[in-house]
Amino acid sequence: MAPTAATVRTVPTGSGSPRGGGPGRATRWSDSLILVLTRRCDLRCAYCPTVKDGEPDLSPADALRAIDLFVSRHGGGDCKLFGGEPLLVPAAVEAVIRNAPPTVNVYLSTNGSHLSRHWIELLHAHPSVTLTVSLDGEPGDHDGLRRGARTYDTVTRWLPELLRLPRFVVTQTIAPSTAARAAANFRHLRALGIRRFNLLPGYYLPWTEAQLSALHQSFDEIAAHFETAWSLGERLYLRNLFVRAPTPFYNTGFVVDSDRRIYPNNLVLAGAFDSLRAATSIGSLDAPPTPERLAEATAAAPAVLEAAVGARIMESTRLADAALTALCNRLYPAYFKMRARA
Ligand code: SF4
Repeated sequence: MAPTAATVRTVPTGSGSPRGGGPGRATRWSDSLILVLTRRCDLRCAYCPTVKDGEPDLSPADALRAIDLFVSRHGGGDCKLFGGEPLLVPAAVEAVIRNAPPTVNVYLSTNGSHLSRHWIELLHAHPSVTLTVSLDGEPGDHDGLRRGARTYDTVTRWLPELLRLPRFVVTQTIAPSTAARAAANFRHLRALGIRRFNLLPGYYLPWTEAQLSALHQSFDEIAAHFETAWSLGERLYLRNLFVRAPTPFYNTGFVVDSDRRIYPNNLVLAGAFDSLRAATSIGSLDAPPTPERLAEATAAAPAVLEAAVGARIMESTRLADAALTALCNRLYPAYFKMRARA
């Protein structure tokens, strides 16, 4: 699973900028370690920007070294295991899950095609690990966005066991082409028994006005579903309410790429930003940046991004992100009401 919001939320709240208001964890984006364990992936999702070939994998030893460095700087925080597809480097994933110190919250994002009994048992043995699996909705849309790779059946086969994990989240990615069906896809996922969601509109893609309007409408329907469920006392979770970053849809923090270089965010994974790698790298595991240099590079990232993608795509991204922000802002009152009753 590409490191996107599979976990991200950014600028004004829904994606959550520092300006917005929301629950407490939302300010922790600067305390995240993102390990790009590999760029390899066996899928080719239509919305995926990650450059997948010709890069090394991060070794288990280097993954643990990065965690040591992160802990020495921050004391702890969130460690997100991304790819490519992280389960293609099982030794590195397992090393992190088994050895991360208690101050580090491990998040594993996967496309689900390599799930196995082994992973389910390991996650049961480490209940503090959050597993995020991509499932975009009905089989036609889910497999269609994967250009025909039939992972819907694979993921749903494991669903009964995944649902028993204490921290299992589904990322529903919404491409411009599926925006009009996003609410129907969400309802399909709910009908499968899923209760914990991360919604991810396709980022750095050209959204048309009609697609953005469909996205807003779908989010309205999804928001109404959450409000009704919460009013009935149902425990539904939306991760977007709790995460923010300063760059739309990308993870910001201490990013260690699969080649051991360090960046202030994972924009560098996208092919469109390949030419910026030298300019945006701020060190390596052998020569890590100072906290000041990391903060400076993080602050400079939005301008670098805007210059690289161009005004049209940037505006399109902002508008898609704004739709997600509006969803979050609509839901905060109902969320706090539900929490007050709990
Ligand atoms: S699963 Fe899809 S989105 Fe994730 S890295 Fe592979 S191709 Fe990209």
